[in-house]
Amino acid sequence: MQIKEGNPYVFKCSGMDLQKVLLYYGHIENNPSSELKIVCPFHKDVNPSMIVDLQDGKFFCFGCNTFGDAYQFVHLMNPKLNDLQTLQKYFKILKSNKVRKVSEHNHTRIRKRRYDNKELYNIAYDYYYGLSKVDWMKDESDEVTLCRQYMLQRGFTPYTLNKCHAKVTYNKSYAIIFPMLDNGMFKGWVCRTTLPDIEKKRKYLYNEGFSRATTLVGDYENQDIVFVVEGYMDRLKFIQNGVENVVAILGWKMSYEQEMKLKKSNVKIIVSALDNDTCGKKGTKYLRTIFRKVVRFCYLKGIKDPGEMSEEQFKMMHKKTMNKVKQQM
Ligand SMILES: [Zn+2]
Repeated sequence: MQIKEGNPYVFKCSGMDLQKVLLYYGHIENNPSSELKIVCPFHKDVNPSMIVDLQDGKFFCFGCNTFGDAYQFVHLMNPKLNDLQTLQKYFKILKSNKVRKVSEHNHTRIRKRRYDNKELYNIAYDYYYGLSKVDWMKDESDEVTLCRQYMLQRGFTPYTLNKCHAKVTYNKSYAIIFPMLDNGMFKGWVCRTTLPDIEKKRKYLYNEGFSRATTLVGDYENQDIVFVVEGYMDRLKFIQNGVENVVAILGWKMSYEQEMKLKKSNVKIIVSALDNDTCGKKGTKYLRTIFRKVVRFCYLKGIKDPGEMSEEQFKMMHKKTMNKVKQQM
């Protein structure tokens, strides 16, 4: 651990420090793997929901959203201590007999247990398909009602949620889950938080191992025209308005693999509905370098992305855009 000059309370904790702290509190054994899940001591956790990375020295709990490093763990374990007392406690732990065995030598040798991609895919698949199916028009359970209200506020109807096979996770922090289907093939899932506090930190949660670059979310097989949008929710807005030939590239720049998928599908015209901002414009410019016919979606002034569009606005922009598309046909 190094103490930064000037501020004794801002310092960098290493992965080894976290290993010592967790060993001290009995959360891990002597030879842990570098990435592991433990039962979170900061909420009523049953299944391990805290992810620990002993190389980075960071922890994050999916259940209660606490996160931090070795020092913060000690701080959370001892909420009654003041800063100075916590610091003293922290140093005491690092020097304690209980963690004596953790040395630079055996820390760097901690077992690397990483799931391979196939295993991660299976975990994601089982997780999504293991959740109960939801009928967003009818289901009245508390979880569904809460999510439905939230999505309605954001302009998404129960019909759309049914259409994209959304489900609820029973994880309060990330309550809604959407499957990412690439021409109908399950590629992973994305969860959306409904809580403002968590939204500030992280809006979307993707399954571990999900590969953005090799996924094109949407149905694009044998379509003459394909709309390209950035985010998953942008795509939902199009679906809600009856336009289903739309793919989300989950970023502003199309990857090489996504490009190849679209080219193989024999699409004739690309409509770029990437965001109406600097990145979206850059992304559109890039699309023009790889596809012969690219039409820019006719955004109304002040509308930044498809998520913001009302039904009326969408219809106006779509009509204008389709006129441009016809000229290209
Ligand atoms: Zn927790």
